[in-house]
Amino acid sequence: MLLRGETREDDNFMCFTKHEPVGVCGAIIPWNFPLLMFVWKVAPALCCGNTVVIKPAEQTPLTALYTGALLKEAGFPPGVVNIVPGFGPTAGAAIASHMGIDKVAFTGSMEVGQLIKEAAAKSNLKRVTLELGGKNPCIVFADADLPLAVQEAQKGAFYNQGQCCTAASRVFVEESIYDDFLRLSIESAKKITVGDPMDPCTSHGPQIDRQQFDTILELVESGKKEGARLECGGYAVQDKALIIQPTIFSDVKDHMRLATEEIFGPVQCIMKFKSQEEVIERANNTHYGLAAAVFTRSVERAMRVSSELEAGTVWVNCYNALHAQAPFGGFKMSGNGRELGEYALAEYSEVKAITIKLNDQLTV
Ligand code: ADP
Repeated sequence: MLLRGETREDDNFMCFTKHEPVGVCGAIIPWNFPLLMFVWKVAPALCCGNTVVIKPAEQTPLTALYTGALLKEAGFPPGVVNIVPGFGPTAGAAIASHMGIDKVAFTGSMEVGQLIKEAAAKSNLKRVTLELGGKNPCIVFADADLPLAVQEAQKGAFYNQGQCCTAASRVFVEESIYDDFLRLSIESAKKITVGDPMDPCTSHGPQIDRQQFDTILELVESGKKEGARLECGGYAVQDKALIIQPTIFSDVKDHMRLATEEIFGPVQCIMKFKSQEEVIERANNTHYGLAAAVFTRSVERAMRVSSELEAGTVWVNCYNALHAQAPFGGFKMSGNGRELGEYALAEYSEVKAITIKLNDQLTV
């Protein structure tokens, strides 16, 4: 267990370690999963004995405030969890640069992640953990269970209207099954029930705000201009505010903006590959390294490909299979540190080594 220290004896010395709280932990979270992100930050911080100052995203402050009311009702002592709604450049930046905050955990864009790290470095060198974006490859080999791969890849692309850092936004499909995969994906996308998110029958609702909505449609236009093939969707749903029809592009090429930029919307980009070696190189050809997926029936291929993918999480024959026990975080510019599981506890504790010289002057 990470919260338990180690003991070493060496000649006349005994050394043991203690895992202590870091102190005051700042947290800055995004809007796409307001409750989950709150818990991912606050729970490990409190488990390790810290206090928390958390800033929810300006688009979704109410979830955090409601959770705050529940924490109060549950009897948490005053000052243990402090919720500070506000905007990024003011409230968020104040957390990142505050001299009284010992650690900051951030989930959001790569650009803001860089600002947080800079502010932390220039203030008190507070510890920083970052969970940033992704341009996640989902690789479907010809020997995969095709209906399963279609279903999971689509779940990866459209879950939460594509507003996920783990979104399967680059789907690489082996040449021999490419046409079938595409046909089944289009059929499946057209069956998605789009509409009012308050209607229990709906599985696809609006984007978070006008700014995100416009950015996604602008990227869709860039795809059309750059020569990708729009297979379905690609437009806003008539009379339904900020809802974008689930969209599929085929013939997406690696250099296109659709294949390089994080879309954060319901856009599935399908690409063709010929060999394992080629697809691994193309999958890794990004600054991001958050998540990846492999669909195959071969255990040998699953092991080899998942070892070679540069990503903090690799799913085999599944997508978005997140578990509280499994560490989550990014390679490369997708971030630093890990959330969830025992690894998360290490990010919220300081290790102290205590060394005692053993001699006969020590008394109990
Ligand atoms: P998104 O593009 O998904 O909104 P952001 O990275 O802009 O992602 O925002 C994620 C979180 O970071 C939000 O809580 C936001 O208020 C905060 N934020 C934005 N800009 C800054 C900043 N300069 N310093 C600190 N926090 C910021």
